[in-house]
Amino acid sequence: MTVAILVVLLGSGVAGFATWLSGADEAAAEAAPVARGFDVVGPRYQPTAADRARTPARITPTTPLVALTFDDGPTPELTPYVLDVLAAKGAKATFFFQGDQVEKHPDIARRAQAEGHVIALHSYEHVYFPDLDGPRAREQIVRGEESLTRVLGVRPTMWRYPFGEASPVADAVLAERRLVGGVGWDWKSSLKGDFECPGADAVTRLVVTEARDDAVILLHDGGDAVTCAAPQWEYLPRAIDAVRDRGLELGVVVPTGRPNGAEETAVVAP
Ligand SMILES: [Zn+2]
Repeated sequence: MTVAILVVLLGSGVAGFATWLSGADEAAAEAAPVARGFDVVGPRYQPTAADRARTPARITPTTPLVALTFDDGPTPELTPYVLDVLAAKGAKATFFFQGDQVEKHPDIARRAQAEGHVIALHSYEHVYFPDLDGPRAREQIVRGEESLTRVLGVRPTMWRYPFGEASPVADAVLAERRLVGGVGWDWKSSLKGDFECPGADAVTRLVVTEARDDAVILLHDGGDAVTCAAPQWEYLPRAIDAVRDRGLELGVVVPTGRPNGAEETAVVAP
């Protein structure tokens, strides 16, 4: 798999907590019941008639697979919606969770795990590793690893750097902890990412443009994406349908067991 890191993400603080709700959406969100025992403050997705009539995807060894990956969660604003859509579409994804977010929203993290998605680590609190010395890099990795292990009961084995920015001292810790650290993403176009709030049409176009066999697509269920206007999130069911219309299916990212090589991870059938 060739993974090119061509963009540097903007800062990812969860500023403007839930400020994206428009007036009408805000009223709907307040009226909506809290479902399944965890906090939900964002939109939910109801399966359509077409979703309910969908036949399960047939994935063969030659089916081209694209992986949707979601970073910076879990959050009550976006993760439940993403999970709703994936369930309605019969699709699996790969989540790069932050340790601090998993501690704040353990039930949402457990829901993602229970629904069969791949869970990987994205540091404890989304730090910029090139600025960190060895001990601080170690703390961000180990503390995040411990958070996911405590909440999910399994140790993460895969890692993505915040902002895609690695450092030699952090690489050494990742190798010691046996965390596969090479998960970047494909971004061959100059289209805007979901964290830049370009709207549903633009994010759908990004996903469809980048979708090809073995592609890893960067999306977010936390961070700056939380501040985008709620209708942007309608991109996800549309993008999944559009990707399938092009003959691709949804895969997940997993370690290959060949650490420190060019093929540390692969996109495989869920
Ligand atoms: Zn991130």
